[in-house]
Amino acid sequence: MADGFDPALERELRAAVGDRHVLVEAADVAPYAVDWTGRFRGRTPAVVRPGSTAEVAAVIEVCARAGRPIVAQGGNTGLVGGSVPLHGEVVVSLRRLDRCGDVDRRRGQLTAGAGVTIGHVQRTARAAGWDYGVDLGARDSATVGGTIATNAGGVHVLRHGATRHQLLGVEAVLADGSVISRLDGLEKDNTGYDLTGLLCGSEGTLAIVTAARLRLVPHLPNRVVALLAFDELDAALDAIGELRRDLDALEALELFFQDGLDLVCEQFGLAEPFADRHHAFVLVECASRIDPTDALARGVAMCAGVADAAVASDPARVRALWRYREDHPEAINRLGPPHKIDVTLPPDGVGAFVARVRVSIATLEPAARVFLFGHAGDGNVHVNVVGVAPDDDRVTDVVLRLVAELGGSISAEHGIGTAKRRWLHLTRSAAELAAYRAIKEALDPRGVLNPHVLLGP
Ligand SMILES: Cc1cc2nc3c(=O)[nH]c(=O)nc-3n(C[C@H](O)[C@H](O)[C@H](O)COP(=O)(O)OP(=O)(O)OC[C@H]3O[C@@H](n4cnc5c(N)ncnc54)[C@H](O)[C@@H]3O)c2cc1C
Repeated sequence: MADGFDPALERELRAAVGDRHVLVEAADVAPYAVDWTGRFRGRTPAVVRPGSTAEVAAVIEVCARAGRPIVAQGGNTGLVGGSVPLHGEVVVSLRRLDRCGDVDRRRGQLTAGAGVTIGHVQRTARAAGWDYGVDLGARDSATVGGTIATNAGGVHVLRHGATRHQLLGVEAVLADGSVISRLDGLEKDNTGYDLTGLLCGSEGTLAIVTAARLRLVPHLPNRVVALLAFDELDAALDAIGELRRDLDALEALELFFQDGLDLVCEQFGLAEPFADRHHAFVLVECASRIDPTDALARGVAMCAGVADAAVASDPARVRALWRYREDHPEAINRLGPPHKIDVTLPPDGVGAFVARVRVSIATLEPAARVFLFGHAGDGNVHVNVVGVAPDDDRVTDVVLRLVAELGGSISAEHGIGTAKRRWLHLTRSAAELAAYRAIKEALDPRGVLNPHVLLGP
């Protein structure tokens, strides 16, 4: 038995899920207590790994009765300190709920357990000629449940929307152990409150998602990627607007800078994509039933200020160009635990933000290194800062206040977690926060589910 863990509670948890699936040894629970960046480190008396919805319900019921808070965990790739037990909570890992159903070919839907990875959903869909509208760098670890809990965005939001848009219904366990299930996949069903939409983005504070009915999109076999180099950010931002307007087949539009590109090349031994150095880079992806290469070339030709370009349509080259963008998070992690501050700016605020945020951070902490990249098509910028102590919140403070001043959002797609809780008032009114609290108190009156996430106790 682990220190300070009630033996009766431990016995009940073992009875609920089986001995093998209650971990209490320090070495066994350690990986569940630290996040992907290494910035958020907690402690837990136990990790419980239920294998069915009924077992999740039993675990929640047992913990609620004992007044023992829990933290839900899927792939543990969340970046806002929401998936780890920072206050000694019991971790409920949903990874064993990993059954992915077959594709319903008539409706283009499938049902997946909360622990199924996004990569698994994508492969299952593609084998039937469909695809899943959400894609992100963490695809082989991030789970259906975690992406629903955070309403994950990713690289295809501008075409297919975030996770909420793919969601037809969920099965979930509420804080008292009762189960709600809406997996029938009806496309139209205006029958009262949209509980599925409410749970999506609720970061494990209202219920534990155990399964979901997902809407699929047609698989588009022809894919072409261009990496465009710019010497001025303004030219890159204008090009992003023009490509959005002109390209029917547009699937992704990503932005990064020379310093991030240098870091990725250095960390992974990649060759720089261009002979000359530039300021900003836009990665454009198109996908279509017919080859979109000519349309992309015409679109790029219309953009002023393109200093250089590389184009790829064979899968290996496409993957190679994507690495320059997608390897940013891992390359930055290698420098030490980063502060990851994910924000949205209105389109005309991105330029001012990029210029001002670097100056603000340098003034505050001259030793800090700042890397900016993001999903440019949505105004989403990821501010990554290394060289600042994990618990030093001054950088987050300065960045989020700047975002609010420019009319943006303090969380584009990662959620609030524990990392941004203090700043929620910057972009939500007192009336909105009161409504959030009323919902939390109605669904989780005893504060059992992720009590330190989003609103806090
Ligand atoms: C390399 C990398 C790239 C990334 N790229 C993107 C990106 O492009 N877009 C994006 O949006 N995010 C991105 N992320 C962040 C992360 O992948 C997403 O937030 C993802 O949705 C987390 O899924 P997960 O299964 O790992 O959830 P976890 O990290 O385990 O949990 C995240 C939150 O959801 C809660 N939760 C988990 N499972 C459940 C459940 N079954 N029921 C209720 N609550 C639950 C947790 O308590 C926590 O609050 C990236 C992360 C990495 C490491």
